[in-house]
Amino acid sequence: MSQGADVEVLETEVLVVGSGIAGLSFSLKVAEGAEVLLLTKKGRVESNTNYAQGGVAAAVAPDDSPALHLRDTLLAGAGLCHARAVEELAREGPERVRELVEWGVRFSREHGKLALGREAGHSRRRILHAADLTGREIERALLAAVADHPRIRVLEDHFVWELRTGMDPRSWRSRCTGALALDVEAGRFVGISARAVMLATGGSGRLYRHTTNPPIATGDGLALGYEAGAAVANLEFVQFHPTALYPAGSQAFLISEAVRGEGGVLRTVEGEDFLEGVHPAGSLAPRDVVARAIDRELRRSGAPHVVLDVSAVPADRIAERFPTIVAACAERGIELPAEPVPVVPAAHYQCGGLLTDWDGRTSLRGLFAAGEVACTGVHGANRLASNSLLEAVVYAHRAARRVLQELHDLGSVPSEAPPAPSLDGDGRDPGAVEARLRDLMWERVGIVRSDERLSAAREEISDLASEPLASSGDGPGAMRAREVGFLTRLATLVVRCALRRRESRGLHFTESHPYRDSERYLRDTVLAA
Ligand SMILES: Cc1cc2nc3c(=O)[nH]c(=O)nc-3n(C[C@H](O)[C@H](O)[C@H](O)COP(=O)(O)OP(=O)(O)OC[C@H]3O[C@@H](n4cnc5c(N)ncnc54)[C@H](O)[C@@H]3O)c2cc1C
Repeated sequence: MSQGADVEVLETEVLVVGSGIAGLSFSLKVAEGAEVLLLTKKGRVESNTNYAQGGVAAAVAPDDSPALHLRDTLLAGAGLCHARAVEELAREGPERVRELVEWGVRFSREHGKLALGREAGHSRRRILHAADLTGREIERALLAAVADHPRIRVLEDHFVWELRTGMDPRSWRSRCTGALALDVEAGRFVGISARAVMLATGGSGRLYRHTTNPPIATGDGLALGYEAGAAVANLEFVQFHPTALYPAGSQAFLISEAVRGEGGVLRTVEGEDFLEGVHPAGSLAPRDVVARAIDRELRRSGAPHVVLDVSAVPADRIAERFPTIVAACAERGIELPAEPVPVVPAAHYQCGGLLTDWDGRTSLRGLFAAGEVACTGVHGANRLASNSLLEAVVYAHRAARRVLQELHDLGSVPSEAPPAPSLDGDGRDPGAVEARLRDLMWERVGIVRSDERLSAAREEISDLASEPLASSGDGPGAMRAREVGFLTRLATLVVRCALRRRESRGLHFTESHPYRDSERYLRDTVLAA
């Protein structure tokens, strides 16, 4: 790709990066008082949100309350949740869910009322869902609302390459002033100057060999924010979903936890309930417990998978509640509920992220974060199922309110054209680096860790990062190489966090330090840039 000197500069009040639930709901809120430019690196639908199955947790049932939702979330978080962050989540949840309905989201109903599912760790039925395609329904409704909004402009195939920063003359501190983006189709750079930037770039499941996440989940926002000077936290807490359909491939098909909520039981290939005696909740134990038990069972038996037995769930219940899962299994010749489903764990959700306060502010002035890329303190050491979509809307709402309050104070930013990076140059094949990275993260920084494996991973990642990546010279090739660069940066940060936590807690389990050490580690692992 040849680089001209001229980079077009677009000006906006608020720049939003990402078109999942966090970016879209934030845009709708902030556009009540500001001009919004929303960039997304592929088609607008492509996001983790679009694949969410189970649903959104909110205390809306008569026998439920925010206090119970708070209690369940704190319990899952293994001592590291920020109680205030969870309180806001549980308290504001029902109101934000009502807003989703007002924006046009059609949740499933039963007997004239919202149908509520049950998932692991929830003491009540509180999962609002749209059959087993909840994320797709949310994406559909929010995209329609955004399309109708006169103050929101969406640019697809615009990949944020780096954040722009400058000195804030009022505070003499660095601040975010916008971004440099690659127009992937045209193969040229665009500068964006903005008073406030919201990163809503989602997660980083592509860091691992097996993942439920789609190809967009390359942790860009984390790397972008960290490189610009914002602090990150708790990256050692990676959630592995216990039940991805085997064989998992590069984007595994998820068998929602709600299937176990309806009575599905995990068994060895010989038919034994191996979670009995491991945890009082059996197959509905917290995800980290279940993923570790499966990992142990696979090592013991040498089998490539365990199975999910749904034979106790009535056929009409399965068909009505999980039509997509039934169809995906049928495609692979598995007849539900009669036949057992082969399943394995897969990387699913990143609990840590860019450290934010309760209003989405990162440690870099003018830079905000919401959704999976943010670490608000809600999840602690382990995310409670179906809390992430809720966290995204609750904290996007709070951030939008804060941005509108601060917009005047944030002042104007310079709009000069930034230099375009040179993309010429040889280097390692990004595809080969990515494949190696995903394998080594799976083997050494996966469900069960040790100091030795983490240190070996650190060495190997540093070797992979030591040489530049080759760029194929066109827009998609340049984006691919940059994404692999982001993944490599993120891998380094995950390993640094994991090595710092010399205990086992929640999703971080290490054989070198198999017990909790609350005297020394009852705190976030923060890496300041
Ligand atoms: C299979 C699956 C099932 C799930 N089920 C549930 C569930 O039932 N309940 C629940 O609560 N959670 C669930 N989750 C998790 C939940 O879906 C995600 O945490 C949530 O959707 C994240 O939303 P987000 O808006 O933060 O990010 P995303 O929805 O991932 O959106 C990120 C956006 O950022 C864009 N982007 C990224 N980098 C760049 C860049 N450099 N430049 C421009 N654009 C960029 C992407 O293209 C995308 O548009 C599930 C996840 C998966 C993968």
